[in-house]
Amino acid sequence: MSKPKRGHRKPEKGLLSGERRAFTIQFPRRPQAVIVFPAPYSAAIANLGYLTIWERLNKVPGFTCDRAVWNPRSKDMPRGMESGLPLSDFPLIFISSSFELDLIRFLDMLITAGIEPEIVKRGESDPIVVAGGITPTLNPHPWEPVVDLTILGEGEDSVLEWIDIYQDWILSGKDKERLLEASSRLKYVWMPGKSEADCHQAEYSYYRKDPPCSPVVHPQGHFGDCLLIEINRGCPHGCSFCAVCGAFPARFADTEAILQKIDDAKSLNSTKIGLVGAAAGDHPHLKEIVRQIIASGKEITISSLRIERTDSELLHLLASGGFRTVTVAPEVADEELRRKIGKRASDDDLVQLAKDSAQAGLYKMRAYMLIGLPDPEPLEKVVAFVKMLRREAPTSLKLDFSFSSFIPKPRSVWQDAVFASTKELNQTKRYLRSHLARIPGVSVKMESTRTERLSAVLSRGDCHVGEALIRSQRSSRPLEQELKAAGIEPERYLVP
Ligand code: SF4
Repeated sequence: MSKPKRGHRKPEKGLLSGERRAFTIQFPRRPQAVIVFPAPYSAAIANLGYLTIWERLNKVPGFTCDRAVWNPRSKDMPRGMESGLPLSDFPLIFISSSFELDLIRFLDMLITAGIEPEIVKRGESDPIVVAGGITPTLNPHPWEPVVDLTILGEGEDSVLEWIDIYQDWILSGKDKERLLEASSRLKYVWMPGKSEADCHQAEYSYYRKDPPCSPVVHPQGHFGDCLLIEINRGCPHGCSFCAVCGAFPARFADTEAILQKIDDAKSLNSTKIGLVGAAAGDHPHLKEIVRQIIASGKEITISSLRIERTDSELLHLLASGGFRTVTVAPEVADEELRRKIGKRASDDDLVQLAKDSAQAGLYKMRAYMLIGLPDPEPLEKVVAFVKMLRREAPTSLKLDFSFSSFIPKPRSVWQDAVFASTKELNQTKRYLRSHLARIPGVSVKMESTRTERLSAVLSRGDCHVGEALIRSQRSSRPLEQELKAAGIEPERYLVP
């Protein structure tokens, strides 16, 4: 295999020329930092957290931050999109992570860029690496052997406060130990050796008045030519399997602030507005927001809707804005179990939603389901539930069921639960596939158990997992093999 080429290369002209930006900035030949999103461009341009931090960093006087994305298939030298510089030329690298597997891709990026992934082997002249985002906030430990420090919680203000410290340090002669020492005084900065009792995650206190909104749009984004706005953060519902409630306090952005932000971004000329947030469907003024967006002539999309709160009027409004697929999360087939895990919707609510959706002109309902729960339900019940919904829903509405294995997440009610065995999960998937495959108008999606098991090990992993992951990326041997070689049974993270 040929080695990725180093050296300065022309910036990503193709992609950049298709972008429309809310802010203009003249990037120097050598920006002071780069923020990495370890996934392809289409996902990065649709990730509001990543884009928001990138934009805010570039508003710091005298500071510029490039951005880099990663296509694991291409293995091209990772570079700053604005400058064309290889990752290793940046003195400061931020990594924004939303998923457990990001750590694997980030290691891949570092190794491809020729940057030593192991912190203890990096010297004074190597880049400082800073992690942020929901994944290291929930569990920073697998990141411990790789990153110099982690900013816990919401990054909007905290990253700027940390940049102040960084800029002072740059002026004062650059001794890495001094930077770490100064950084550790910030409550929301975590690093090895600092007690977690001394850490408090950062909170963005202006969220309601200043909800994040895309600073840049591109037609190749995951949601198309779409301006994203976060209308809610966190979630008040506390479902047993979900970490969102534990990660961020629940709140809704002010309606006026949302509409003002959309209006301010008029110059981006996006064809669609995307309303995002774990509990976006719960926004108390959702209909008013949707109505105003439709009246402005834009298309609309929304990340998720709450089954029991979504009525025919809202669906008609959304449909008039080009919305075609309703996404819901009943999670389980059994109503009682559904209530027990935190979901309030009944089967009747779901059937009514399906009927209203079809009547409003929507053509697909995507339903997220969980398998391998600590309190598993009989599989015949799941099959009966899918058949019931197919029977009751109008035939014009396609049903798309997405089954994921339950992964115990830190800070969720079930954080100490067992991750089901590979045998059990594979048997469950085989059963569901064979019983649901030939139902007309129903499609079924499932993730590979291997990938889910890897996510589960990382979800509750510690620094040994991070160390084994570095060895695994270097040797191309599976993580679990590397853990066993170090005398650690992977089951310890799966069956605590
Ligand atoms: S699963 Fe959805 S409703 Fe439940 S806590 Fe998480 S975000 Fe909220």
